[in-house]
Amino acid sequence: MKLDFSQLNKQTKKSFSDQHAVIKKVMQGKIVACEQCQQPLVLITPEQSEQPGIGCLKGCTFISLEFG
Ligand SMILES: [Zn+2]
Repeated sequence: MKLDFSQLNKQTKKSFSDQHAVIKKVMQGKIVACEQCQQPLVLITPEQSEQPGIGCLKGCTFISLEFG
């Protein structure tokens, strides 16, 4: 089986920049709605969860963040 990584890399790169834009907005205190459920995305700190990141309460969107 041959895997086509070129397409995967392209998608990863695009979603990475999308995620970066979302992270930036949430960090600035701007409201960003989840594309799936339209709930606002919130910052989940390492104190709140073992998996810190930015996500909606339903969990359909989650961007993991690496702290420190
Ligand atoms: Zn959602």
